[in-house]
Amino acid sequence: MTRPALPTTDELRARARTALDRIGAVVPEGGDFQARTPLTGEDLFGLPTATEADTDEAITASRAAFLTWRTTPAPRRGELVRRLGELLREHKGDLADLVTIEAGKIRSEALGEIQEMIDICEFAVGLSRQLYGRTIASERPGHRLAETWHPLGVVGVISAFNFPAAVWSWNTAVALVCGDTVIWKPSELTPLISLACDHLLARAADEVGAPRDVHRLLLGDRAVGEKLVDDPRVALVSATGSTHMGREVGPRVAARFGRSLLELGGNNAAIVAPSADLDLAVQGIVFAAAGTAGQRCTTLRRLIVHRDIADTLVERLTAAYGKLPIGSPFDETTLVGPLISAKALDAMRVAVSRVQAEGGKVLAGGNRRLSEAAPSAAYVEPVLIRVEAQTDVVREETFAPILYVLTYDTLEEAIALHNDVPQGLSSSIFTRDQQEAEIFLSSAGSDCGIANVNIGTSGAEIGGAFGGEKDTGGGRESGSDAWKAYMRSATNTVNYSSELALAQGVSFL
Ligand code: NAD
Repeated sequence: MTRPALPTTDELRARARTALDRIGAVVPEGGDFQARTPLTGEDLFGLPTATEADTDEAITASRAAFLTWRTTPAPRRGELVRRLGELLREHKGDLADLVTIEAGKIRSEALGEIQEMIDICEFAVGLSRQLYGRTIASERPGHRLAETWHPLGVVGVISAFNFPAAVWSWNTAVALVCGDTVIWKPSELTPLISLACDHLLARAADEVGAPRDVHRLLLGDRAVGEKLVDDPRVALVSATGSTHMGREVGPRVAARFGRSLLELGGNNAAIVAPSADLDLAVQGIVFAAAGTAGQRCTTLRRLIVHRDIADTLVERLTAAYGKLPIGSPFDETTLVGPLISAKALDAMRVAVSRVQAEGGKVLAGGNRRLSEAAPSAAYVEPVLIRVEAQTDVVREETFAPILYVLTYDTLEEAIALHNDVPQGLSSSIFTRDQQEAEIFLSSAGSDCGIANVNIGTSGAEIGGAFGGEKDTGGGRESGSDAWKAYMRSATNTVNYSSELALAQGVSFL
């Protein structure tokens, strides 16, 4: 079947312009910094970047806004986030267009990303009335012991290209209701969606009478991020990206005793047990491994299959991989869009060659597509590779759609293989055996921040805390009590008696 043609760069530029106009965002003219689209691999607009002076001014303004914002009652802070959520809902289609144009996501995933932003706004509005502290039983008569939570300060948000808007909203919606102000340094690959989000938040701030500087956007590359990392006026640096980035950011923030929240790379695996429902497993595996062209932090990268069912499962996956529609993410029938860049395609090829040199067998995929229609773009078939051992290359995160298939004989061996990687983000087991499922979820099972049963590794909901262990950085964002990372706690002892009683029975004077 012939697939529809790719849109041209001129068409994409016009579509981006229309979306930005409808949102009301102004694209600053000129500059060497290029907004680009992976759909054709070509440039869209030249933009100016933030200078050192701009960054310094933004931090000063953000700090000043914080002094007002921190004393605004939390439910009133929630009104700003509620309005932001309404505007996101109103502009869902336009925002999704920008996500597709800049990050290459297929339509339903781009819409899903904006829905996730709406969801976190609703969560944060509720949270604005639930920033609970505890009251603790005091050992002293006539005393009250309590824990209170206070706003932290300026939060620097550094984000990755692959969730160009949702990661910002996880941080920003929660930080704002917590009484913090936010400075956002988005990925250099996704400036247009960032301008759109910044504009909608500024509009919401104007409408509800919040200080404009509760949010500032700084476009630019890592140098801009480094300024936020090193500036002591930035209380929390929430950085999402590669483990390589986190290794640089974490120690630098720690050196000034700042706080960091790190959301880094994953190398996620699923165990498929003999009792698994294979229809369900195949669907879950293909979405988790090939969806988003393998460019989610939670993408399934390793499949650990019981030897008895390995051939059957591999056959079914090979058939499914052979039918994946690859092409323009604006075409409703496409399931796999482009990789973000030619560099990403090179990294994928290097990893596949390394595994093949070690004896790995490519079962499906790996060919480049649409290279004549779009020579600067990077469309590629997701790859399925059977490997005998979990070698160094398998233990690395290659940010592309490669799924390595390993086999196991005992659950103990499967869990050991599963955990024997540096990263610890997301994991799953497909099984109908309750005992196996519980072992996988127990303290002796998966060592990841996310552990699932009979569902893939990707596509988390906002209600739970999101993040991972080991080289994934240890941070938690989004739901549950992740809000505590954006606040500081104080323990208060109040003496309402007429005696000065000392704790632990100490007597003095
Ligand atoms: P990246 O590390 O190249 O860049 C991420 C951001 O960090 C960008 O804004 C970049 O400019 C900035 N940056 C890089 N080095 C910096 C430094 N030294 N100081 C300050 N800022 C710096 O990542 P990417 O290619 O955009 O995204 C893909 C990676 O992100 C993958 O590894 C993926 O697993 C990870 N990721 C993780 C999560 C998560 O929640 N765990 C979510 C999305 C993406």
